Amino acid sequence: MKEILQDLTREEIFSLVERMGEKKFRAEQIYLGLMQGKKISALPVSSAFREKLLERFEDEPVKVVEKFSSSDGETEKFLFSLSDGNLIEGVFMRHDYGNSQCVSTQVGCRMGCKFCASTLGGLKRNLTAGEILAQVTTVNRLEGGNLKNRAVKNLVLMGSGEPFDNYENVVKFLKNVTAEGGINIGARNISLSTCGIVPEIYKFKDEGIPLTLAISLHAVTDEERRRTMPIAAKYSISEILKACSAYFEATGRRYIFEYTLITGENSDEDHARALAKLLKGRPCHVNLIKLNEVKERTLLSASDQEAQRFLKFLEEEGISATFRRSMGSDIGGACGQLRARFLGGERP
Ligand code: SAH
Repeated sequence: MKEILQDLTREEIFSLVERMGEKKFRAEQIYLGLMQGKKISALPVSSAFREKLLERFEDEPVKVVEKFSSSDGETEKFLFSLSDGNLIEGVFMRHDYGNSQCVSTQVGCRMGCKFCASTLGGLKRNLTAGEILAQVTTVNRLEGGNLKNRAVKNLVLMGSGEPFDNYENVVKFLKNVTAEGGINIGARNISLSTCGIVPEIYKFKDEGIPLTLAISLHAVTDEERRRTMPIAAKYSISEILKACSAYFEATGRRYIFEYTLITGENSDEDHARALAKLLKGRPCHVNLIKLNEVKERTLLSASDQEAQRFLKFLEEEGISATFRRSMGSDIGGACGQLRARFLGGERP
């Protein structure tokens, strides 16, 4: 695999261009071109310079293989291929308050959550910072955005992979995507979802990237959590809650708990009351999600009625909670489902 030019920061591009004996304004052209989602062969530089770049760097590290649109037109799902042939996926969602994109941080995942399709084949490899960034710049361009008027206003790191299992690359990506003068998506418009890798939460709070932290909780006791999430054997819910408090203290940002309702597992009244007790008085919000059933897994979603009751119990206890809209389920919108189907030879 060649190197990835999108891995470099603006400063690193400037020093590379200088070392290659080219003028400084070329560096700015390259940086802006990449941020606009262009491939190297489309950058506005001399063909000799382009050739030199292409000898060392991938022309287009993240290529769109296919795009699927949901029947209501609100969601688009992208299947991307990487330079080594690996596949990842991303989702673009239209909202009144600004469109969001869901990005992947790893090829596959090794966290092993029982309800999730991303983890079916284990972890293949980490994505580099540039491979994560190129998902955003490419989709922004394809959706008709540019650097002044972005089509992608919000980002969620909720695609395949565990962001805190790929810490260095994810932090570098976040620094590049929030940098002024580039695509410049503000930290306040970014959410990062983690299964709760506690030491990394402490480390991340001091990075100066005050994004919205979302914790995949999905259970109210450690014992129950261990049944669906292997990471629960390593970090307890109380350790996670302490880390969330430290995150709030450092950043002033309210945090989110994601809670996927799985029938017979975590969705009855006792669970709702216990969840409320656990979270009472915390500066947090609960995102309830109806399980997107994965055909390779046996877990079943709570019914609509059960889900509404769960929400009502939380509200009665004064907990701020909403349902996360399930978007694009007709096109394999849930984590890893599109890639899993594609690898299995099936078409959505
Ligand atoms: N690894 C990170 C981010 C990726 S998953 C994490 O664990 O948070 C993004 C969210 O979708 C997580 O809350 C995850 O638990 C949830 N999720 C995964 N598979 C799901 C499914 N089949 N149905 C509903 N939610 C799912």
